[in-house]
Amino acid sequence: MKILVTGGLGYIGSHTAIELINKGFNVTIIDSLVNSNIKVLDNIENITGKRVEFHKIDLRSKDELYSIFQKNIFSGVVHFAALKSVSESVNNPKLYYDNNVGSTENLLDIISSRKEKINLIFSSSCTVYGQAKKLPINESSPVLNQESPYGETKKICEEIIQNQTIKSENLNAISLRYFNPIGAHESSLIGELPNGIPDNLVPYITQTAIGKRKELTIFGNDYPTRDGTCIRDYIHIKDLAEAHVAAIEYLLKIKKQNFYDFFNVGTGKGLTVLELVKMFEKINNIKLNYRIGDRRNGDIISAYANTKKVNKTIGWHAKNEISNALKTAWKWELKLHSLDDN
Ligand code: NAD
Ligand code: UDP
Repeated sequence: MKILVTGGLGYIGSHTAIELINKGFNVTIIDSLVNSNIKVLDNIENITGKRVEFHKIDLRSKDELYSIFQKNIFSGVVHFAALKSVSESVNNPKLYYDNNVGSTENLLDIISSRKEKINLIFSSSCTVYGQAKKLPINESSPVLNQESPYGETKKICEEIIQNQTIKSENLNAISLRYFNPIGAHESSLIGELPNGIPDNLVPYITQTAIGKRKELTIFGNDYPTRDGTCIRDYIHIKDLAEAHVAAIEYLLKIKKQNFYDFFNVGTGKGLTVLELVKMFEKINNIKLNYRIGDRRNGDIISAYANTKKVNKTIGWHAKNEISNALKTAWKWELKLHSLDDN
């Protein structure tokens, strides 16, 4: 069974491609390489023993995308391709609407022109909930007006995908609202590759530990939480990748038409920034250089998932320890450092 993975050389896409291949799916990857490296393709092969079909295409180029659908019958599409920096989206909103929404529109137009039934999984984010009033956050929590153009593109893409499933006879779809993915593949062959100074906490921690950054600044310790730092639901990248396989398998079994649903993907447990930092220090036996700084603009105080819906409906559960994710993240940083030295 053929599955198209857009953005499949990126962080979550490459881990998901591996889990799909391990489950026997025939994976084709499209990626523009705007935020990934072609070497990831070799490493997917090194891990799985399978050479994946790859096309360097920008999803905004409709003709090129269309030609891939003409040459293949895909049962599923996992749509990761997007730009993901919140700060960049604030500085350049047009780029984010054009890339993230434009790509999704092209994909949907092409799917609607096809005869075969296609199951689509879309990468959404818990960012759509903003600061939820009730914790843990369940799927009935309202989707708020977004503070950043990035968040807005996730909200818009969810809406246009849902609308398309209502109109078209050949599309069923699921949006997965990820909480905070961290960690790397256990082989240390693939992992997160942040461009420049990382926005996200775990790459910032590992880059500080390796000496690439002088110190980690913890953004505020005066929030109304158990130690004053913000709370997030960190999820092991392997668990997140497996959630996509479970979601595709679920859609493949569904007999209904015009099916659309959305699910939280997290562990259900919130950790504070300080708890995560201390866990990193303990599991890797490292002393991290960090200081408490000012709050970061627009930060959500606390977000963690109620995962009952995805657990019950799709049968997916997070299984891997966060401490193990922090171990793999550190091994991955060490590997990147050893490659830098050569
Ligand atoms: P990533 O940047 O590592 O991967 C995205 C991939 O898409 C990259 O390889 C990039 O080159 C490619 N891409 C971007 N625009 C493209 C285009 N127009 N055409 C073809 N390829 C294109 O990011 P990631 O962390 O793997 O995120 C994957 C998806 O998950 C994104 O949609 C992101 O918004 C979403 N998401 C990520 C997180 C997170 O914390 N990493 C959280 C919630 C949602
Ligand atoms: N954070 C921090 N220092 C950093 C990066 C992040 O203290 O250098 C905090 C941030 O304020 C938030 C948490 O770590 O409370 C997770 O941040 P990240 O950007 O990884 O995820 P998001 O805020 O998008 O959920």
